Amino acid sequence: MTDPLDAYRRKRDFARTPEPDAPAAPRGLATFVVHRHEARNLHYDLRLEHGGVLCSWAVPRGFSYDPADKRLAVRTEDHPLAYEHFSGRIPKGQYGAGTMAIWDRGSYALVKLTDWDQALARGELKFVLRGRRLRGEWHLVRTQQGPNTWLLFKSRDVYAGPSRDSALGIDLDRAVEAPLPDPDAAMQHGAAAAPFRDPTWLFEMEFVGRRCRATRDGAEVALHGVERLPDAVRDGLLALRCERARLDGVLVALDAGGRPCRTALAQALAGTAAAPIAYYAFDLLHWEEFDLRPLPLLDRKAALRTLVADGPGVLYVDHVLGSGTDLLAAIAEAGLPAAIGKRAASSYCTGPSPDWVRIAAGNAPPAATPAARRGAPRRSRPSNLDKVYWPAEGHTKGDLLTYYHAVAEALLPHLRGRPVHLNRFPDGIDGKSFYQREAKPGTPDWVRTVPIERDGEVVPHHVIDDVETLLYAVNLGSIDLHPWLSRAATPDAPDWAVLDLDPKTAPFAHVVRIARAAGKLLRGIGLRPLLKTSGKFGMHVFVPLRAGYTYDHSRMFTEAVARVLVRELPDIATVERLPDRRDGKVYLDFLQNRRSQTVVPPYAARPVRGASVSAPLRWDELEHDDLTPQRFTIQSMPARLAELGDLFRPALEDPQDLLPAIAALDSVLRRR
Ligand code: MN
Repeated sequence: MTDPLDAYRRKRDFARTPEPDAPAAPRGLATFVVHRHEARNLHYDLRLEHGGVLCSWAVPRGFSYDPADKRLAVRTEDHPLAYEHFSGRIPKGQYGAGTMAIWDRGSYALVKLTDWDQALARGELKFVLRGRRLRGEWHLVRTQQGPNTWLLFKSRDVYAGPSRDSALGIDLDRAVEAPLPDPDAAMQHGAAAAPFRDPTWLFEMEFVGRRCRATRDGAEVALHGVERLPDAVRDGLLALRCERARLDGVLVALDAGGRPCRTALAQALAGTAAAPIAYYAFDLLHWEEFDLRPLPLLDRKAALRTLVADGPGVLYVDHVLGSGTDLLAAIAEAGLPAAIGKRAASSYCTGPSPDWVRIAAGNAPPAATPAARRGAPRRSRPSNLDKVYWPAEGHTKGDLLTYYHAVAEALLPHLRGRPVHLNRFPDGIDGKSFYQREAKPGTPDWVRTVPIERDGEVVPHHVIDDVETLLYAVNLGSIDLHPWLSRAATPDAPDWAVLDLDPKTAPFAHVVRIARAAGKLLRGIGLRPLLKTSGKFGMHVFVPLRAGYTYDHSRMFTEAVARVLVRELPDIATVERLPDRRDGKVYLDFLQNRRSQTVVPPYAARPVRGASVSAPLRWDELEHDDLTPQRFTIQSMPARLAELGDLFRPALEDPQDLLPAIAALDSVLRRR
């Protein structure tokens, strides 16, 4: 009998490609995996486990949930089962050279014709996929054009709908499987607020009616706490593009004038009068086997919009981003009582939350800042303001609090949503310090914490989203702050790639030379890097990343950059990890690019002589002879910030693609 993996092996040199060689032992559950394969041409490799191998098809145009979109799928050689877990870079010159990333994975089952060999012989495979992007029934049909030329398309089922390549259209990599949550556990708004503008908030209309959760589970539907389920709502829930979902929303009935009306709702639910009735859905808490509540609100809403079919019974509640003031006029006109402001990155939690605020219509609009929105309870009482933190300069803890208050507006957007470790110096820079990764019991409940898994244990981490929490952390004695390179909602997906130029004993002039070379190299491969002093004697080179990269990507990339720089400047730069072996050279540290590692943010004060701070720089400042990191201090930075604005703003507004840069870097390496 011939080995089905012969063709796979023949095409590869396993001494040179990282792809797996020996097949793993077969298992019980049938697995499917889809690789996003950025080779000469981008395509998606669909692999279905059967008979101890992964039967594979290359799909150049990817997947579509529109059954009318029939996509070419080219049958390729069987792959070993171990390929299910393979991702990485296949070197140039090797078969399939390029980047192979796992795009989706899950289980599958053949349907209708369940004998694989028969189905394959007939050239017609129908199968149901259970993944995070791919769900429901799909169809592979062999064409007349040759044994390897197939068509792939979506069958008509609950998931079918408008063209999209993922069931929900959002990244579910980090979503966790869980049973449906308690339908009575609902998020509520915290304090009332005056209208405000803030780009990190969204605003929805508040509808008058009965707030309740709705569930669809197969053919079963329910509005929790509502006995008579209106027919239109039942139909709307059954039309959701999924098998199982839990929604949050408001059941609304309209009066004769077409306005939401509580009396009309009561009559309609009692069956004493017929009024048009609809469920206005504003949140998606659960989808299939996944708990979506920890995901950012904007993602949950995008997913909800994808699920809700157009129909009178279930409607999607849209929002405006950034400004509650614009929405309020429309609300007053529609006869609605209020808008609800929600933090766009917030998770769904139970009970009153500062992440939701109610803004009554007719409220006079003083444009409040988010800080001013919150009442007195959300404040830590500053203590020991006169304590001297920097003895040589005489700066006190009060001076540090004043400094952070002054730079908060620029600093906070860079901290927002990130787990933060604290480094506490309660007695100033010469006193004892302790490094604190997790939020301790007794943390005030208005301080946001997020549970994050570390070493198999789930521990709460601080998140600093607003000025009160920032000052709370500083009041604890935190001189600098240590945010992660990823956000709490996606802890394994960094949005900063950082190369740390750490001189220890090397002269600052060498740091400057390396920074110049790094800027030139990165710009040369199409990136727009950012630069700042570390606040001590080094510098940080930042590349803000688009969503979808892992720490493996950012670390691999920064390591390659570091190695090119060491090759260019071998006398002054090193990637040697052991300080004793660095020979007084500047250490190019790329190892921070990993989960739970941190970097000081721009504007952080440092616990060193001189009270210097991490200062964002323009690249041309590297050419100034008088550049020294000690110039930027808690005394001088507020004026510089007022003059230049936040030079680190692009870290928020200019997320960049790493893959083309990796490819470009590859050819740089080859050229040199
Ligand atoms: Mn391929």
